[in-house]
Amino acid sequence: MKRDKLIFSLIEEEQERQETGLELIASENFVSKQVMEAAGSVLTNKYAEGLPGKRYYGGCEVVDEVENIAIERAKELFNAAWVNVQPHSGAQANAAVLLALLNAGDKILGFDLSHGGHLTHGSPVNFSGKLYQPFFYGVDKETGLIDYKNLEKVALKEKPKLIICGASAYSRDWDYKFIRAVADKIGALVMADISHPAGLIARGLLNDPLPHCHVVTSTTHKTLRGPRGGMIMMGQDFENPMGQKTPKGEIRMMSSVLDMAVFPGTQGGPLEHIIAAKAIAFGEALSEGYMKYIIQVKKNAEAMAEAFVERGYQLISGGTDNHMMLIDLRNKNITGKDAENALGEAAITVNKNMVPFDDKSPFVTSGIRVGTAAVTSRGMKEKQMIKIVELIDEVISNPGSASNFKKIRKKVNEMMEKFPLYS
Ligand code: PLP
Repeated sequence: MKRDKLIFSLIEEEQERQETGLELIASENFVSKQVMEAAGSVLTNKYAEGLPGKRYYGGCEVVDEVENIAIERAKELFNAAWVNVQPHSGAQANAAVLLALLNAGDKILGFDLSHGGHLTHGSPVNFSGKLYQPFFYGVDKETGLIDYKNLEKVALKEKPKLIICGASAYSRDWDYKFIRAVADKIGALVMADISHPAGLIARGLLNDPLPHCHVVTSTTHKTLRGPRGGMIMMGQDFENPMGQKTPKGEIRMMSSVLDMAVFPGTQGGPLEHIIAAKAIAFGEALSEGYMKYIIQVKKNAEAMAEAFVERGYQLISGGTDNHMMLIDLRNKNITGKDAENALGEAAITVNKNMVPFDDKSPFVTSGIRVGTAAVTSRGMKEKQMIKIVELIDEVISNPGSASNFKKIRKKVNEMMEKFPLYS
């Protein structure tokens, strides 16, 4: 077969962009070489509908072993009682859980997208807001923290069947215990979507949702540093959705509902090459090296947040407990869109983001979201975080200056040379 030069030259171009630029998108990271190797392996050739030992295809002996290892490692990592590693993405994991637990038209209560929530938590443009009846809670205008009192008020009034917690742009920890107590008052279920802080939760740096929430979903590619993908988990301590008490056998009853919601409910064949890559990433996340990494991710975010505040930037909630921060740029007289574009010219990648109570559209926005998972994978520490903030500030203070962008791009490129990506 002739090599597809066009596509491979584009892949090289993208590798060059990743190697020479500053990656600050909070949902991105750099996987290890072995994770990439597994994702590009012959396992991509295999169909394996069903679960290990219960497939609809022959020849699954090897992929059964791979998937079982992924499941066991994920259980160990999160202290979970049950895991499904097949969701192709975080959105797919959430779709499966909603399909399993709800009927069309049921009420759900999620974190407002414009305050930092995710599309799959009830947004009207997503299946979750079209098939179900969504209600929302948000953050307090003054503190930028989740308004738990309001969450409880809406929950008691609307009696949703499912409360969803977790976010795409919230820099603080969650009170899962409180949310579960609210849910218990109305007989609701709780789903935590830990896509962003999964790595910090796995290694005990943030509150653990598994003992409190009925179901927990995650992506595998953000702080967890695995291949792009999703997963669904249940903790040791839960009541099943039919309202019967816990003991062991009942875990199976609910898990089979969830398993079936993944396949055949929302997906076809699992991506066994990606599941192999997930297994490797889970193994890595259990290591001492990852523990050091994820502690540094948090330290770097703290250092970066402090440096932004020192330069007069307004961080929603004033700081961060995790790997990210949401910056309101209104006092800097620049929109999120213009900041994203200007920073892009200087080889600094961030994403525009709505801030709570934003007066601009999602295409323009008043803020940017910044995260430290990827730069920490490059080996950067607190000193570099302060330098990064200095560079961002130089761009945002002169957003129309092409010569300034060029100068900063050069500084960024030089900085990144000292932190090689796949050397
Ligand atoms: N849930 C949350 C909280 C997210 O932040 C994201 C992605 O950004 C998703 C779900 C969806 O993940 P995916 O893009 O893998 O579908």
